[in-house]
Amino acid sequence: FYRPLEKINAVIETYPRGIAGFRSYLTLIGEVPDIADRPGAVVAKPFRGDLRFEGVSFGYTPERQVLRDIDLIVPAGQTVALVGPSGAGKTTLCALLPRFYDVQAGRITIDGIDIRDVTLASLRGQIGIVQQDVFLFAGSIRDNIAYGRLGATDAEILIAASRARLEAVIAELPNGLDTLIGERGVKLSGGQKQRLAIARIFLMNPPILILDEATSALDTATEQAIQQSLAELAEGRTTLVIAHRLATIRNADRILVVTDQGIIEQGSHGDLLAARGTYRALHDAQFAEAPTA
Ligand code: ATP
Repeated sequence: FYRPLEKINAVIETYPRGIAGFRSYLTLIGEVPDIADRPGAVVAKPFRGDLRFEGVSFGYTPERQVLRDIDLIVPAGQTVALVGPSGAGKTTLCALLPRFYDVQAGRITIDGIDIRDVTLASLRGQIGIVQQDVFLFAGSIRDNIAYGRLGATDAEILIAASRARLEAVIAELPNGLDTLIGERGVKLSGGQKQRLAIARIFLMNPPILILDEATSALDTATEQAIQQSLAELAEGRTTLVIAHRLATIRNADRILVVTDQGIIEQGSHGDLLAARGTYRALHDAQFAEAPTA
């Protein structure tokens, strides 16, 4: 049952390696969706980031639609958080934006342009993805951060590292940016890997961001520091957050409650609490389980 989810996560993870890596990965798992540049697709200009889902429907199989007639507007620079039960389609909705899959009905636009009318490279080059399983390769810290933008200078890499609060970590490593990570090098902690992933996206500097919030346990202080960095990363970018914990999304401009019925509620944290609906119920349940001290 969980296999499909593993697949989509793995796909998102391999995404920064570019279309070649993505397609060969899909070939490996025997699943190459028919996604390619349309004849006449143009290189997208830098996005301002106004996102729209218009009547979007999608299913992995013809028998079962995961998303049905979804309408969603995210104004440029705003943060929208998606909450809801496991399997509701939050990850799927986000996966449609970089065209890991194409919609089956409706359309997705950025700045009013259908995402199928621009080249995949220019679309994906403007969408940063941070998720909990960070893709690291055997190599130096420098190379692993520079993966966010190949050819970046050391000065640029260090600025990105400092914005992700990775600077102190680098300073303590035996060879700074040259320190090798992976099998023959140092092993980074979960929190350090997250910071590295955030540094990559600061370096990439995309107008659009997808944050798949970590569910794995980090200690509270690390967790808070990471959340703070993510909030800074999201500033000024159009951001979709797949939220697993409600505590972290209170400040989202808008929260959408997604269930197998679609988007059933939306509003700010305060609006949704006052509405006493599903969000309120989720909130009260989480609060009852883990009261803040
Ligand atoms: P979670 O909170 O657990 O991450 P979610 O809301 O993000 O869940 P999705 O991962 O989008 O939900 O999954 C929505 C539905 O689509 C689920 O029923 C899931 O089993 C199915 N699904 C996801 N990926 C695939 C895939 N690659 N192939 C087939 N079905 C899939």
